[in-house]
Amino acid sequence: MKSIDKGYINGAFVTLHGTQVFDLVSPTDHQLLGQVTLGDETDVERAVAAAKEAFKTFRHSSVAERIQLLHNLREAVSKRLPELTEVMIQEYGGTRQFCTMSTQYSLSYFDSLIETLQNFEFERKAGHTMVQLTAVGVVGIITPWNASNGFICSKLATAIAAGCTVVAKPSEMSALQTQLLTEIFHEAGLPKGLFNVVNGLGNVVGNAITTHPDIAKISFTGSTVTGKHIARTAVDTIKRVTLELGGKSPNIILDDADFEKAIPQAVFGAYMNNGQACIAPTRLLVPASRLEEVNQLAKAAAAQVVVGNPSDENTNVGPMVSEKQYERVQSYINIGIHEGATLLAGGTGKPAGLENGNFVKATIFTNVRNDMRIAQEEIFGPVLSIIPYENEADAIAIANDTTYGLAAYVTSADEQRAIRVAAQIDAGRVCVNGFKHDPLAPFGGFKQSGIGREFGTFGLEEYLEPKSILI
Ligand code: NDP
Repeated sequence: MKSIDKGYINGAFVTLHGTQVFDLVSPTDHQLLGQVTLGDETDVERAVAAAKEAFKTFRHSSVAERIQLLHNLREAVSKRLPELTEVMIQEYGGTRQFCTMSTQYSLSYFDSLIETLQNFEFERKAGHTMVQLTAVGVVGIITPWNASNGFICSKLATAIAAGCTVVAKPSEMSALQTQLLTEIFHEAGLPKGLFNVVNGLGNVVGNAITTHPDIAKISFTGSTVTGKHIARTAVDTIKRVTLELGGKSPNIILDDADFEKAIPQAVFGAYMNNGQACIAPTRLLVPASRLEEVNQLAKAAAAQVVVGNPSDENTNVGPMVSEKQYERVQSYINIGIHEGATLLAGGTGKPAGLENGNFVKATIFTNVRNDMRIAQEEIFGPVLSIIPYENEADAIAIANDTTYGLAAYVTSADEQRAIRVAAQIDAGRVCVNGFKHDPLAPFGGFKQSGIGREFGTFGLEEYLEPKSILI
């Protein structure tokens, strides 16, 4: 059992003022994996002071120095990928397939910021005026548990590229993953105070960060409810906020698509990251005239989904991160049944033989109406809703009939047709014919899926203040 009883402040692992201890419980078998000591407001105060002091120097660092730092971190992380993958599987319950990909993606955030910096103009002209893009200040990074280290790498890399310093509060449920990543960063030789970590509760440590007058910006990933709270709290000190929030992403299968391929892909896609993914395509929109065929294909695909020990190579869906998250998903399955949707696969309860962990059956509802709660609310588990549409215009209308707008997916035999449909969907990212990832493309949501963008040039600009110098 591992005990994490220190925070990372001013370049050192230090004893925290906070004394509350939180148990780290395996989502796979409920064994106690470790304990983490939670920080408090005093710890945030120390971390912010260190980041503020470091900012005085780091804001003036050259682009070449920042690129070197990003290279160093990238190299340090790349040497420890297998360990990072193992601890993510163990603590979070992500599948081996997903965690391997996720830790690999962490490198792409350093690579993409290095590439972005090589072409980025920190000084521009507007009219007759010189415009300097200057680092915004100390950034508070608040992250969830569903790809914890990836979020930290992406946000920290962007902060470094901008010349900002950081105070991070990851989910306390990710403490083992955070500890390993922080040790890796420490060994890579970060300037003191550039990156500080305080584990702790959202309403204590998170709140202290969002209210602190010396923090200029918050970069948050998590639920829309918490995102709204953070935005409200941050307004008192007029903090800049980047919010990457929830989603209920539509996956439109157009009538000319290859259904034999597209439907199984849609089912497995909905279960990406155990269904605990903000970009998961959880609303499958299919032609009403072909619903029966879709149901058969989807049911057959669900029967192929392996729910089980996340460490096994062949597992497609591991456990939910916590018992709380398990209960939340169960309650949504019950809601779907009571709303009158047809249960095509899965259902309530745990799969046979997996009673000791937070496992949910790979579940599909069909004949779902878009006004049902299971079609409108983020479930964050392996639950797919199949929604029939009448024609292309109807499909687009249903896709857009949501408070969210993070991601969407369109599949068609005719790529140009898919692109035309994609252009009419209100979402920050629309993937045509498959699931794609580009760490240089802006990432973020329309509507209640967020504010601002991450990644590449668009992400970097969110950490910079334009200053006009009129000569
Ligand atoms: P939250 O959005 O509550 O948590 C995300 C992060 O915010 C955590 O580090 C959390 O800390 C922190 N936080 C919570 N309250 C505050 C606060 N008042 N001030 C500052 N920070 C705060 O997600 P949950 O873990 O509660 O998950 C609930 C649901 O949210 C999921 O079922 C899913 O629908 C959605 N979600 C979406 C994610 C996404 O990627 N868009 C990621 C995770 C969840 P702490 O852990 O201590 O509460």
